[in-house]
Amino acid sequence: MHTPTILLPGRYCNSLTEYSRFVTREVFIGDVPMGGNNPIRIQSMTTTDTMDTIGTVEQSIRMINAGCEYVRITAPSIKEAQNLAEIKKQLRQRGYTVPLVADIHFTPNAAEVAARIVEKVRVNPGNYADKKKFDQIDYTDLQYQGELERIYQKFAPLVKICKEYGTAMRIGTNHGSLSDRIMSRYGDTPQGMVESAMEFMRMCETLNYYNLVISMKSSNPQVMVQAYRLLVETMVAEGMNYPLHLGVTEAGDGEDGRIKSAVGIGTLLEDGLGDTVRVSLTEEPEAEAPVAIALVNRYAERLKAERQKVKGDIKDNTNLSPLTFNLLPSSYSPYEYKKRHTYEANAFIGGHMVPRVVVDLSEANLKDASVLNDAGYIYSPLLDKYNMADQSVDFVFLGDELPSFNLPANLKQLYNYPTWQKLTHKVNCHPVFTLSEYVNANDRSSALNLVRLKPADIDSEEFGLLPFSNSLVFVLETDALHGMADQRLFFFKMEELELEVPVIIKRSYSFETQDSELKTQNLQLQAATDLGALLIDGFGDGIWIDVPSIDIKTITSTAFGILQATRSRISKTEYISCPSCGRTLFDLMVTTQMIRSRTSHLKGLKIGIMGCIVNGPGEMADADYGYVGSGTDKITLYRGKEAVKKNISAANALDELIGIIREDGNWIEPSV
Ligand code: SF4
Repeated sequence: MHTPTILLPGRYCNSLTEYSRFVTREVFIGDVPMGGNNPIRIQSMTTTDTMDTIGTVEQSIRMINAGCEYVRITAPSIKEAQNLAEIKKQLRQRGYTVPLVADIHFTPNAAEVAARIVEKVRVNPGNYADKKKFDQIDYTDLQYQGELERIYQKFAPLVKICKEYGTAMRIGTNHGSLSDRIMSRYGDTPQGMVESAMEFMRMCETLNYYNLVISMKSSNPQVMVQAYRLLVETMVAEGMNYPLHLGVTEAGDGEDGRIKSAVGIGTLLEDGLGDTVRVSLTEEPEAEAPVAIALVNRYAERLKAERQKVKGDIKDNTNLSPLTFNLLPSSYSPYEYKKRHTYEANAFIGGHMVPRVVVDLSEANLKDASVLNDAGYIYSPLLDKYNMADQSVDFVFLGDELPSFNLPANLKQLYNYPTWQKLTHKVNCHPVFTLSEYVNANDRSSALNLVRLKPADIDSEEFGLLPFSNSLVFVLETDALHGMADQRLFFFKMEELELEVPVIIKRSYSFETQDSELKTQNLQLQAATDLGALLIDGFGDGIWIDVPSIDIKTITSTAFGILQATRSRISKTEYISCPSCGRTLFDLMVTTQMIRSRTSHLKGLKIGIMGCIVNGPGEMADADYGYVGSGTDKITLYRGKEAVKKNISAANALDELIGIIREDGNWIEPSV
């Protein structure tokens, strides 16, 4: 089989098989342009009160020093919008020329003030001219058109000001804050998100205003990826190519926040999409830029290779005609999740089973049973027994090493084929073959056989000689620079050959830095990008992350974190916590840690922790419960979208939240 460049009908990216940046229109934001052949820009948002001029200036400087190229500041009302002038003046006096962005929700009058002061305004099409009441309204086409006319009347003055002052604008759709009008017509869907922005973009074009940047954020990376892809396809179909601002909202903090952000942002960067990145973490804002930089830096080398190929700058993508690709499997859609159909390999992996996790223990101390603690099997020497945890791996690869203790019965052991052949007791032990070993083997397992291969092997003669059976599982490796696309092509070819063999996606990493924190962060970001991008598309029955220089505990939790972020295997509580901003009514970082410390054992529950009642309830999307700041020292608790306890004291709020979870039968006591 040849290896073609795969282009999609309608196209949301240039290529599914090689790195190619989707080049957008260049937009001018102060003296830091975005889009076109400019680097992917880094940005973040302040968390201070916008009326606290010194605090905001100083925080902005910390963000700039951390790598921020644009600084966004909330402007909830006219007085904050006006104070942006003072903040800007003081930054300029201190020598900082960073473009400022005003963040607007619900307040066109504040936007109109800010647009005369700062370099860019961000508007949310879900709430610029609409108040959310969660009403379902059946609009006739005429009524719908009437609504658009009403919005135009409110929105056009801002566009005119932006034109006059040379101010850029981001039309920033959020999954959680779609207007009732969009929800009523399109539902809570990527299509609704796209249409929400397109309505505003079309209005801008009617007014001959093109200095636009677009975003499609969601706290669910799957929804976010689908929405951005659909946006690009829709824009191209209408002859538009505005730059994309990438972000996952309310990603949370620490490992979860980094993995979730990388799954969403990284997947799109892999497709060559994205002109600016904001990582939203419930941490100090200066912690965000280094994460965004680490995500973006991976593409500098790929972009260089692409530019060398086309000899210079890449042309923009306006007016490119839709291209088609014959080999693209009909079962594949980049706009909806559909798990690839595989058989169940003797109840070990594949079919409807959740993706399996493999870790490599071949270098570990296999004389000590407690070595399995890091893989999620807690050994009790007293009872000589293992307890499984929510994040217990399914397979351990032992290579050619034999443990001197008995492993738990539900943990499968993987050995290199020659070593496996020599084992006297093969219960729970399975061979890992090379492709040629498997083709030529006369001794295979009746239960499970793993075969390591690389994507190009599918075109080899040996692959054609493979004896297929329901015990066969592939371990797919890659050493390509653009490894995700290399592995994705393998899945497309498997679909074309109608092969339903389960696949474990394996990625190996080595990091040069000696800084263990940085190494861990690089692992989280890179593995979440590479594996997350495939899992989001429904590919992969298991994952195997191999990094010799990182401990097994970190690798295990990264693997389960990626499965959780892609929602393919839930093993812990999910926290949808906002990054906080000038509207925040309590210390989000401390509160998130406090809530986490008492609820982190509630596997599968989604808890929203939001700083303000203005945006919080809308933006916590599909959280099961919400903890939302509603005044100084006041919290409102939500069950889904319903406020069940209003304005209770912050001192009792967590106990009350646990009470509600208990009432619903969703509480379990934490194990000691
Ligand atoms: S939900 Fe959080 S980040 Fe969003 S506006 Fe409210 S306080 Fe700011």
